[in-house]
Amino acid sequence: MVVFDAHCDVLWQIWQRKRRAAFNKDDALHVTLEGLKKGKGKLQCFAVYVPEEVPHEQRFEIALEMIHIFYEDILKQHPEMKFVSTRKDILALQEEEIGALLTLEGCDAIGSSLTRLQTLYRLGVRSVGLTWNYANAVADGALETRGAGLSDFGKQVVQQLNEYRLWTDVSHLSERGFWDVMQLAHFPIASHSNCYSLCPHPRNLKDEQIRALIARNGRIGITFVPMFLTEGGPAAITHILQHLEHICSLGGEHHVGFGSDFDGITETVHKLGRYAEYENLKNELIKHYTEEQVHSFLYGNFMRGVTF
Ligand SMILES: [Zn+2]
Repeated sequence: MVVFDAHCDVLWQIWQRKRRAAFNKDDALHVTLEGLKKGKGKLQCFAVYVPEEVPHEQRFEIALEMIHIFYEDILKQHPEMKFVSTRKDILALQEEEIGALLTLEGCDAIGSSLTRLQTLYRLGVRSVGLTWNYANAVADGALETRGAGLSDFGKQVVQQLNEYRLWTDVSHLSERGFWDVMQLAHFPIASHSNCYSLCPHPRNLKDEQIRALIARNGRIGITFVPMFLTEGGPAAITHILQHLEHICSLGGEHHVGFGSDFDGITETVHKLGRYAEYENLKNELIKHYTEEQVHSFLYGNFMRGVTF
């Protein structure tokens, strides 16, 4: 059974390591070509994440460096990795090919420029996270104490995403920002967020937020970040199943999938420490759900949600 993973940070890892990490096979990376093959990855989202420490005026440049890494180190060197930017591209993937989709984690990289957003779209970005954890020109992030919603510029960004039929990603966004997006966005998703009612972390979604995403036909990627899965103590695959079951209980059986956050985390879930170990998650899922349901969770739900 193949996997659609809605979020990983391997571009950031490779950038951080000054391109001295090998995507093909490297123990320092969670997501590698070898791991994708073993874990039956079919569609991987590659996030462009510009770290907080980067000064504002350099952020767009760094985003472009990561996109360069995507094209050179991921795609060009590995013929099995196929650039995809439309549903048609994904459906055209051959048996041995893995789709690579470019996404943006946080609009910090575009400053307050729509031109930059439009340029990222032309470079292949198909899902746009509005914030990382703090405030930017679009909105406040989940950890920004002010907790503001969308700015006027943020509204323009969402409208542009609607026009392009791109996903507006609410993971990392403030709660107020979330509800503003629910008003405006045509194609909202949460690429990597879990359930607040099971693990009350500000990065997680409250039940009414999960219900709203489901009502808007959005998608939710359960993420393998231990501190978003369980409070204190090590996280296990059973915790992931609890979050999955909870989203299903809110009506999300056809809206839930996975956004691992591999390479964006240092602590990992027991027996799910790298991409190849998706197999362990599948083996656990199949004990509790039908094959059809497991396929939907792993791949089908996000795939049906592709709007571009
Ligand atoms: Zn993230």
